[in-house]
Amino acid sequence: MPQFAYVVPKTIGQMTQHLADYGDEAKIIAGGQSLLVLISQGLVSPGVLVSLNEVAGLDRIVHDDSKGLEIGAAVTQTQIAASPLIREKFSGLAQAAEKVGSVHVRNLGTLSGNVCHADPAADSPPALLALQASVKAVSVRGERTIPLDGFFRDPLESVLEPDEMLTHILIPPASPFSNSVYLKHAARAVDRATVGVGIWWTWDPAEEKCRDIRIGLAGAGPTPLRAKQAEALAKGHRLTDEVIVEMGQMAIRECDPLSGGHAPASYRRKMVAVFVRRALERLAKGMNRLPREGNTR
Ligand SMILES: Cc1cc2nc3c(=O)[nH]c(=O)nc-3n(C[C@H](O)[C@H](O)[C@H](O)COP(=O)(O)OP(=O)(O)OC[C@H]3O[C@@H](n4cnc5c(N)ncnc54)[C@H](O)[C@@H]3O)c2cc1C
Repeated sequence: MPQFAYVVPKTIGQMTQHLADYGDEAKIIAGGQSLLVLISQGLVSPGVLVSLNEVAGLDRIVHDDSKGLEIGAAVTQTQIAASPLIREKFSGLAQAAEKVGSVHVRNLGTLSGNVCHADPAADSPPALLALQASVKAVSVRGERTIPLDGFFRDPLESVLEPDEMLTHILIPPASPFSNSVYLKHAARAVDRATVGVGIWWTWDPAEEKCRDIRIGLAGAGPTPLRAKQAEALAKGHRLTDEVIVEMGQMAIRECDPLSGGHAPASYRRKMVAVFVRRALERLAKGMNRLPREGNTR
């Protein structure tokens, strides 16, 4: 059995001091749904686990109409999926949370842990990329805000330094006539995404044109990524069938999927186009709206 010390700080200051003191020996543990798997497989062997579960204030979802959404690092996927506010105003994120693993995994696993694990096939990152999320990272050296678009470096690697912790995920306010969706294609319900597509857009109702759009992809490269050239095809345009098909084809050209898991790269590419199209059609038909009350049991 792997041996490690376990420390349970109560404040962000204590937590970052532990990370500074233990250096590379330490690993943050949140819900343990990825970390404990890596430890049990012998892929990582930290000397110290630093728990964030008793750090005051990290289990909250705070919303302000002008500042947007602030999600603490201890907030679980179940909390995200059940939040009436997130279901209504940031529906793509609630849809992604509902699709992570099983109910047990969602009850323990945090949104932030899912992001920090930096798995290219994880469900939350594409939904968060589409919503233009950033993360607040804190260490004894200070605090910085990192756009999620620049957060992922390689499979299972982010730009966080070993002494930094993510304290909050930040999402800008929802704007009028904007909406979001997340669609997942997976071999089985508990599997990570073969392909995941998160899309946010804002719509010009008078002109019936897309004002702005962001497309986040999972399973489409060595990290979660944005399909920026496909986005460019939509901005300022009506989303005709032709434009939607062209966007799917452009997204294929922008991705660089890994083979393995349940699918070769060639299959993932095809599914990127299929699921970009389906997600756009859902948004266009308003089919992405969730009931305000979530049942995640
Ligand atoms: C059976 C099963 C099914 C799954 N299915 C899916 C699925 O369908 N879709 C999907 O996306 N994922 C899936 N997963 C993966 C998993 O749900 C998430 O990656 C997991 O929940 C991560 O969150 P956590 O709180 O458990 O993080 P942990 O496992 O505790 O930590 C994960 C990593 O992030 C780091 N970390 C955690 N929090 C912070 C922080 N605040 N600051 C800095 N670093 C931090 C840890 O040090 C560790 O390296 C599945 C897992 C299991 C066991």
